[in-house]
Amino acid sequence: MTQSPKARSYDVIIVGGAMYGSSIAWWLSDNTDFNGSVLVVERDPTYEWTSTVHTNSCIRQQFSEPINIKISQFGAEYIKNFRAYMGGDPAVPAITLQSFGYMYLAGSDAGAEALRATQAVQAANGAGTKHMTAAEIKAAYPFYNTEDIVAGNHNLIDEGYFDGATIFDWWKRKARAAGVEYIHNAVVAMTKNANGTRVESVTLASGEVVSCGTVVNASGPRANLTSAMAGIDLPVEPRKRYTFIFDAAEPLDRDLPLTIDPVGVHVRSDGRYYMAGCPPEEDPAVDPADFTADHKIWEDKVWPAIAHRIPAFERVKLVNSWVGHYAYNTLDQNAIVGPHTKVGNFIFANGFSGHGFQQSPAIGRGIAEFIGSGAYQTLDLTPFAFARIERGEKFVEKAVI
Ligand SMILES: Cc1cc2nc3c(=O)[nH]c(=O)nc-3n(C[C@H](O)[C@H](O)[C@H](O)COP(=O)(O)OP(=O)(O)OC[C@H]3O[C@@H](n4cnc5c(N)ncnc54)[C@H](O)[C@@H]3O)c2cc1C
Repeated sequence: MTQSPKARSYDVIIVGGAMYGSSIAWWLSDNTDFNGSVLVVERDPTYEWTSTVHTNSCIRQQFSEPINIKISQFGAEYIKNFRAYMGGDPAVPAITLQSFGYMYLAGSDAGAEALRATQAVQAANGAGTKHMTAAEIKAAYPFYNTEDIVAGNHNLIDEGYFDGATIFDWWKRKARAAGVEYIHNAVVAMTKNANGTRVESVTLASGEVVSCGTVVNASGPRANLTSAMAGIDLPVEPRKRYTFIFDAAEPLDRDLPLTIDPVGVHVRSDGRYYMAGCPPEEDPAVDPADFTADHKIWEDKVWPAIAHRIPAFERVKLVNSWVGHYAYNTLDQNAIVGPHTKVGNFIFANGFSGHGFQQSPAIGRGIAEFIGSGAYQTLDLTPFAFARIERGEKFVEKAVI
């Protein structure tokens, strides 16, 4: 059951209305340089198959690239001051950031050296990361088996879980209240001008053709399909990521940091339960509608790894699990943001892989600034520009999960 747009022309059409579409819509509605019309086209308003509803919703300051650290610093500030950013509306709930921190563990001298180097970058950029020896880790968290651990990096400031679903909900509500139009429909085609420098209109699944000043690709794992409508090849594909929730017969006596084991499995506290996940050994692109589970990953990889690292997890019971899709940027697993190099009114908000939730406040703000004034005003997001994709030059971020 699709809905028709109220008008035949909009200043901005956003393709996809989940975390990114709604962040950009809300930031546009809050931007004093912009007072145009915005249409958000969402193919499935239940959001059932989005990255957004399958997320683990964590934020970290532990990146190796300063721009990613700054993006997460703003993310934390935004989360902690959410109501103020929402105009001080008392109906808006306060959002807590549960700073149990990420614990990156290294099992070799080379791994420890790499952690020492990223800690130095993080500290220089104002993050609270501490480099810890295996003995220090054991003293702070006696439940870890540290026999095969050389060192770790841990940060208890602005790093952990936040309720991103509530932020998403309020971005939608407030954007709508400010005049942004959301419709249940799908963008199925785009028409460009004669010399191919602009998208002039989008065609909806219902057949309507709607003109646009700017079109924003906020289509998550389907981003390459949306780009292809404008003749653009985008190296973003859906890749499965598995999440497992378990109960422990012997609960730990303190919060479990989001622990990234050297074997690539991660685990953390999740209320009274625990949450674990990992990429699969074989990690192909999948169909955007393929969410079939693989419980062997839990039995063969995740549970053995976490029971080795935390012997108390020898006795656990799986209580829930799900499969989500990363919008996986195959070049460098980092954001692709801003205008296309030739089709200048086609804006990317794509390829966030596993760290898009925490980046949505800063990137949504930056895209709204760009649309409103033609330039980034707060954080310079040009390192994420599409031009690097064309040149095949990676944005090298070493801390990717
Ligand atoms: C298992 C898992 C764990 C994660 N954990 C974290 C984490 O701890 N921290 C973190 O920062 N990030 C995490 N992420 C990443 C984060 O969830 C994503 O980066 C973020 O949700 C991406 O939002 P999005 O709006 O770009 O994509 P999506 O949520 O996928 O939304 C895209 C939307 O576009 C719509 N759409 C697509 N094509 C069309 C079309 N043609 N017309 C109309 N609508 C269309 C879709 O229906 C969908 O609603 C995780 C992701 C996964 C899968």
